[in-house]
Amino acid sequence: MGFLCKLTGCLSQPADGNPSVEMIEAAYKHHDLAWRYINVEVGPEHLSDAVQGARAMNWAGFNLSKPHKVEVMKLLDEIGESAALIEAVNCVVNQNGKFVGENTDGKGFVTSLKEKVDPAGKTMVMFGAGGAARAIAVETAIAGIAKIIIVNRSLGRAESVAKILNKKTQTVTECVQWNDCYSIPMDTDVVVNATSIGLFPDVDAQLKVDFETLLPSHVVADVIPNPLRTHLIEAAESKGCAVLDGLGMLVNQGVIGIKLWTGIDANAAVMRQRVIDVLGI
Ligand code: NDP
Repeated sequence: MGFLCKLTGCLSQPADGNPSVEMIEAAYKHHDLAWRYINVEVGPEHLSDAVQGARAMNWAGFNLSKPHKVEVMKLLDEIGESAALIEAVNCVVNQNGKFVGENTDGKGFVTSLKEKVDPAGKTMVMFGAGGAARAIAVETAIAGIAKIIIVNRSLGRAESVAKILNKKTQTVTECVQWNDCYSIPMDTDVVVNATSIGLFPDVDAQLKVDFETLLPSHVVADVIPNPLRTHLIEAAESKGCAVLDGLGMLVNQGVIGIKLWTGIDANAAVMRQRVIDVLGI
């Protein structure tokens, strides 16, 4: 009696270097839950078998990271509303044997953003149009953001994000091809870097942005969790902006996942500290 634990985890490739296992297990330990979170390396050719295995072992749920967020969708029983709009699943929840796909990335971002500003009615400049950007755009639109200017190197990718918002939400969109140094419009409320520029180990890479156009009224967020203090965060702080680092989004998507799986409200501070400790950031 008492030796059976509930299983959760993450399927990805490459899986090494993903701090989620430490972050989630720190929460399980803190809350005295007999749950485990296993970081598993799964290639695309084994994804279907891995999901079947999770069903066979009655896993309570699991995260998906690259390259599985889109491919997993056809292996699930149901897709949540925002995950269907984003067209990507990063979190699966076992609801009485039914595997339901959700997307917690954008929700984690909005939870962090709301610590500084309510996105409803605001204007956001978003750099990037990849998976993270798409999740952020959809969730801020659902939270009532008025306008998003999508600035991306590939215009076609920006336009495909805009198309989703135009079709399914009230949010106004504008797409900008990002060739030159970008100046932040004065009437912007929120600035977010949703690209991978500056992610460890490429920490010297800089956004092509005129940091002189940042104003103290701007709330500036970065999705990059490592390093914690990116060039953008440092420039924004020196201009007097309120800032949000990428760890906020990472921790909050973890908190949301734990809530979906276990029903408990996990302690975000414990989770954040564990990531800082294991990554040494
Ligand atoms: P994608 O590969 O889907 O998208 C990458 C984006 O970055 C694209 O918009 C791409 O532009 C842009 N980009 C990359 N390199 C350059 C460059 N040299 N110049 C201009 N633009 C560039 O990645 P994801 O969206 O999945 O991830 C993006 C970042 O978000 C990663 O750093 C990841 O770690 C982070 N992330 C953080 C999370 C968190 O919880 N904090 C959660 C999820 C992701 P283009 O379209 O033109 O190629």
